[in-house]
Amino acid sequence: MTGKTAAGGTCTCAAFGAMGIIGVYVALALAPLALAAIVAPQGNGLAAELGGGLALAGYAMLLMQFLLTGRFRTIGGRVGIDVILRLHQIAARILTVMLLLHPFIYWPSLARMMATPAFASGIVAWLLLVLLMAMALLRPHLAIAYEYWRASHGALAVLIALAGLHHALAVGSLSAAPALRWFWIALAALALYTLLHSYLVRPWLQLRDPWRIAEVRTLGPARWLVALEPENRALAFDAGQFAWLKVEPHPFTLRENPFSIVSAPGARRVEFLIREAGDFTSTIGALVPGTRAWLDGPHGAFTLAAAGGAKRIVMLAGGVGLAPCLSMLRAAAAAGDRRAYHLIFGNRCEDQIVPKDAIAALVPVLDLKIDYVLSEPPAGWTGAIGQMTPETLLPLLSSGDIAETVFYLCGPPPMVTASLRALAALGVPPAHIVTERFDYD
Ligand SMILES: Cc1cc2nc3c(=O)[nH]c(=O)nc-3n(C[C@H](O)[C@H](O)[C@H](O)COP(=O)(O)OP(=O)(O)OC[C@H]3O[C@@H](n4cnc5c(N)ncnc54)[C@H](O)[C@@H]3O)c2cc1C
Repeated sequence: MTGKTAAGGTCTCAAFGAMGIIGVYVALALAPLALAAIVAPQGNGLAAELGGGLALAGYAMLLMQFLLTGRFRTIGGRVGIDVILRLHQIAARILTVMLLLHPFIYWPSLARMMATPAFASGIVAWLLLVLLMAMALLRPHLAIAYEYWRASHGALAVLIALAGLHHALAVGSLSAAPALRWFWIALAALALYTLLHSYLVRPWLQLRDPWRIAEVRTLGPARWLVALEPENRALAFDAGQFAWLKVEPHPFTLRENPFSIVSAPGARRVEFLIREAGDFTSTIGALVPGTRAWLDGPHGAFTLAAAGGAKRIVMLAGGVGLAPCLSMLRAAAAAGDRRAYHLIFGNRCEDQIVPKDAIAALVPVLDLKIDYVLSEPPAGWTGAIGQMTPETLLPLLSSGDIAETVFYLCGPPPMVTASLRALAALGVPPAHIVTERFDYD
């Protein structure tokens, strides 16, 4: 994330990073096909070749889902969480269609194959994949706590990967070649290791760096400032990044939530701006200073590096989507950045504009224009009125040279999507837009 943006005259590293990751992904998905073409026996007929091809590429994609979501900074630090999650979701749909379809390619022999005991693992993997996708697509309608849903999502994925591995090795005719067998064993081992790394190795490493809750302060309706201090090492991060917070006696827990850091880098104390949204966040007000906590971070690429050489930076923040923007503005102020900044901050009502004093404190030290947008303004409100939609945003965005500007969008998914429509109407190229949706589905 060090190069200039298109606004600065060259391309964004995020765009390159995304293309690079998609390139590696496609190469790995096609690797078993290439291997099969080289080493596997030929002449099984078109249907067998097609069915085998779908299964090989689909299974490789399934194993790569583990690597994609393994919170590796080499991936997330390049492209950001938004790109990773979109890739994960799109790949999941494509691989599901490929894997669910592939048995039907063998249609005339399907009944006979299914009756063969060696195919049992394939049938189990197929059924579990249907269940996993149904639970993923229906998650907003399922009455399951997010932590349990996430644990079941991971457990189902592991079972499918293992049953799929057995199926590939037991009956996959193309996988009979030793080179392919070893390819599957290596990729499956790597995939399963990423889970071990996430849930055992990384928490074990976190044991060296405990944190304590230092302060919990209410900022407005259902909005809190939570400050943490390290017992040992401070967290080195770039303004705009986020961390997974665990408030538990030990870090071996599934109860962790991602929050953007609202404070600027450089201090030992790390602060979060948290809105009450559900199970965990509604207990924030009851957190007692001194309580043990753990941070997994920093993560994400929603940072000023993505703006490269842009002369002007516009930030569109919805609600607590302000957090990473405020961190970046604070860092820019601390660095004496002379570029033009424009913050457009949308909320429902005026007392949600928090922390207003911290935003105001930046005006004397930055070239900063601020527009507050309210959908339910009080009487006498002189700022913009409405949701963060094209109708509201276009009049605020009309000034300034688009070619020299990079836009940062952060907040709930509907706000980001509506803001993207406004930027599309303005003709802003995608390479000038950096997004972070406060959503991890
Ligand atoms: C990159 C990123 C940065 C974020 N930064 C902030 C921030 O600065 N301030 C803020 O208030 N909110 C932030 N959020 C949103 C915040 O993570 C969720 O509101 C919070 O996790 C909800 O947890 P809950 O248990 O209170 O609510 P729940 O009712 O359990 O969940 C509400 C929704 O939050 C998401 N969610 C819940 N638990 C988790 C979890 N363990 N991991 C991931 N997502 C979860 C799910 O989409 C879920 O549907 C951020 C989200 C992301 C992805």
